[in-house]
Amino acid sequence: MAFSFSSISLYHKALEQSTTTVQTAVAHYLQVIERQQHLNAMVAVFAEDAINRAIDLDADIKAGKPLLPLHGVIVAVKDVICIKDQPVSASSKMLNGHRALYDATAVARLKEAGAVIIGTCNCDEFAMGSSNETSCYGPVRNAINTQHVSGGSSGGSAVAVQAGMCMLSLGSDTGGSVRQPADFCGVWGLKPGYGAISRYGLIAYASSFDCIGIFGTNPGDIERAFIIMAGADERDGTCTAPKDFYRQQRPDNGTPARIAVFEPTLTLPGLDAEIKAQLTQQIAAIKQAGHTVDMLPFDLLEYIVPAYYVLTTAEASSNLSRYDGIRYGNREVSEPALKQELTAFYSANRSAGFGTEVKRRIMLGSFVLSSGYYDAYYSKGQQVRRLLVDQFTHIFDQYDAILMPVSPTTAFAIGEKMNDPVSMYLADIYTVLANLTGAAAMAVPRFTHSNGLPFGFQLLVKPGNELVLHRLAEQLAQC
Ligand code: GLN
Repeated sequence: MAFSFSSISLYHKALEQSTTTVQTAVAHYLQVIERQQHLNAMVAVFAEDAINRAIDLDADIKAGKPLLPLHGVIVAVKDVICIKDQPVSASSKMLNGHRALYDATAVARLKEAGAVIIGTCNCDEFAMGSSNETSCYGPVRNAINTQHVSGGSSGGSAVAVQAGMCMLSLGSDTGGSVRQPADFCGVWGLKPGYGAISRYGLIAYASSFDCIGIFGTNPGDIERAFIIMAGADERDGTCTAPKDFYRQQRPDNGTPARIAVFEPTLTLPGLDAEIKAQLTQQIAAIKQAGHTVDMLPFDLLEYIVPAYYVLTTAEASSNLSRYDGIRYGNREVSEPALKQELTAFYSANRSAGFGTEVKRRIMLGSFVLSSGYYDAYYSKGQQVRRLLVDQFTHIFDQYDAILMPVSPTTAFAIGEKMNDPVSMYLADIYTVLANLTGAAAMAVPRFTHSNGLPFGFQLLVKPGNELVLHRLAEQLAQC
């Protein structure tokens, strides 16, 4: 019988009634991964470990133990999150051959809750990109149209869920890397509020923006994994809310929501006309269902992409300074050369290890932090961020959520934007806001464009309101 469950809770019912087993699930997903290799979504597959783990999890069921919250749930993990003893490379030659020494907190909590980690997913190099084309393993292909990108940077994680290679996947979202590929692939994608899930064991890109996020086929599955992973971790000083804070938040079902829409997000010249028309209709339908939707002015839209790229490249240039060929991965030059000339040693390793996009960002970040330009760029970027945070705090006092597009277009063709980094950056206009402000945000899959590709809308809520977000997203998707 084909293995097919539309949610984890249905899968769990079947496990309880012994109409399926974790081993059947693992065998099924391994088969799909094999069949879908041409999509290039996975970097490594842990077949043997997954099968062994399934045997143990099935034995526990047989022995009459209650199911764990993620018992036998098959999860794939972006190649920037550490899984003890498994390779982790940030899809960069720089970390070629590197194995993780410990589990990221998110992974440890998933494992403890019974999840089976099936493998790691391709991504843009060091999570820098919007198309999964900067990976040293080559681009990920969108399963709906393989000539088109998956989106990025967590493209492999999005396609892994889209093409049925796992039940859930983890990505990271620094400026949209979960929501944009989710939108391009027609799956659900959550970027939790900043600090909700520990960053311990996540390879840093821009630490004050980075969040571990979740892809799934429905918001219920995502919520289940979120509750397991979220909550205080002494290894991440920005992850402080007690675990119970997230578990206890039970949104009040059915109350009409108050939604804000920033008018300029819908009148942006680059926004695809069909996306604009569908979202306008969606807003009308939401109003018709009894919710309040207010159009608000927003005069900071043109500053958010520049502010995002100034601040994140600054943080990246500092975070990536640790890759020098001594402590991690790739080494181009032999040890004796190190003794002769340290700068040349670093330079040779970093020149050979990093790809073009990563180098571009390290240079940009070093420039905006340099003494002569710090005030002109970095300080200005911080000022924009402060204005945005203040504005969002004020808006969330009056509204439950902000609704906007996820991306100005559907998935573009592979190669289309690779020679035009600025146009690639500008496409992040709707997603970077949540990271600049720390808001939680969900990409909700909803429509199919006349070009055959999916798109949806995005909801942003106050950090800490993730469960409200799940409920609202589910509710508004049905309007
Ligand atoms: N596209 C954005 C960037 O390249 C977002 C990346 C991310 O969220 N990791 O910076």
